[in-house]
Amino acid sequence: MIRELHEWVRAHRDDLLADLAAYVGIETPSDDKSALDRGLSWVDGWLRDRLGAPENVQDVDGGPYGDIKVYDFAGIGEPVLLLCHYDTVWPLGTLAEWPFTVDGDRATGPGIFDMKSGLVHAVWALRALDAAGLPRPAVRLVLNGDEEIGSPASRPVIEAAAAGTRATLVFEASAGGAVKTARKGVGIFRVRATGVEAHAGLDPAKGASAIDELARAVLALHGLSDPDAGTTVNVGVIEGGTRSNVIAGAASGEVDVRVSTAAEAARVDAALAALKAHDPRAALTVEGGWNRPVMERSAAIAKVYELAREEAAQLGVTLRECSVGGASDGNFVAALGHPVLDGFGAVGDGAHARHEHISVEGMLERTALAAAVLHRLAG
Ligand SMILES: [Zn+2]
Repeated sequence: MIRELHEWVRAHRDDLLADLAAYVGIETPSDDKSALDRGLSWVDGWLRDRLGAPENVQDVDGGPYGDIKVYDFAGIGEPVLLLCHYDTVWPLGTLAEWPFTVDGDRATGPGIFDMKSGLVHAVWALRALDAAGLPRPAVRLVLNGDEEIGSPASRPVIEAAAAGTRATLVFEASAGGAVKTARKGVGIFRVRATGVEAHAGLDPAKGASAIDELARAVLALHGLSDPDAGTTVNVGVIEGGTRSNVIAGAASGEVDVRVSTAAEAARVDAALAALKAHDPRAALTVEGGWNRPVMERSAAIAKVYELAREEAAQLGVTLRECSVGGASDGNFVAALGHPVLDGFGAVGDGAHARHEHISVEGMLERTALAAAVLHRLAG
C-alpha cells in the first residue's frame, strides 16, 4: 500500500515542489509579527485549497508572538495531532540573497528543512490518502509561530490540543533521516550573585565579592554535568563587576541545562535550590526554569516508531530512531504522557545554518511514509 502512495506522491513531485517554493517564499521570522501574520494567512488559504474546509478552526491571539491556529479535519476516531510551526530563525530579507533553489535532489531556502517542508509533507500525505480512497484518521493540526523562541504563547494551546488525541506526529526535520523518539529537556536559568562593593586596595575586608561567589557557583554548576546520565550544564555567559579596583557588588551567569530523564531534572532543580553564597554577606539567587520538559522514550512512543519503521521497510528504507539534545514542541505533548513521533519531517541538513537544505526524493518518501502511518493510525 505504501508503494502505491509513494508512486502517487512521486507523480506529484512538481506540485509538492511548487507548494514548498511558495511557502519558503514567504518569510516568517519568529520576532516579526506582521511577517508572521502574512505567513499564517497564506498557509490558511493554502490549507483550505489543498484539504478543503476544516470541521473546526480555533484562532488564538499570540499577543507579541505569532498567532496560533488549530484545525480539526474530519476522519476516523480520535484525532492524530500534527505539530507544524511556521516560524523560522531567518530574519526578513534573507530570501533576497538566498532564494528557494532546486538543484537536482537538493532544494535550499531559509526554513526549508526546519520546518517548512514538514507541513508540505503532512498536507500531501492527507491528499495521497484521499486520492487512493484510503481511510484516514481525524487530524488536528496546530500551526504556531513561536517555536524557535521556546513557544511562550503556543505551549498551553499545544498542551490543550493534545487532549483526547491518539498520537502526535511532529513534522520537524529528521536527524540524518532518523526520527526522534527521545529529546532532552532544556532548562534556561540565570544565577545572580550580589555582594558588597568596597575599594579593593583601601578597604578590601569591607567588601564581599559577587564575582567570587559567581565563580564558585559556576564550578558547582558545571559539576552537576553527568554525561553518562545525559545531563549537561553550561554557564555560557557571565557578566559582573564595574572596575578592577572595586570589589564586585553584582555578577550573573546564564545557564543552559539539558537532561534525558525527569529524575535528572529533579536532581538539577534540587542542586539549584541549594546554591548558597560562600560569604554570609553575599547572596545567590536563581531565576528561570525549564523551557521544555524532557521527552522520554516511552513504550507508547516506541510503538508508534515501530509502526513507522514497518511501513518504511516496505519502501526498502531503514527508518532509524535517535535521541537528541535539542527540544521541540513534541516535548510538551510527550511530558503529558502522549505518544509522540518527532523528527518525522524533512530529510536533509543544516537547521539554523546557511547550508540548510532538503532532499527532494526524501520529501517524496517521507510524504508517502506519513500517509501510510496516518492510515495505520486510522485502523
Ligand atoms: Zn523547528
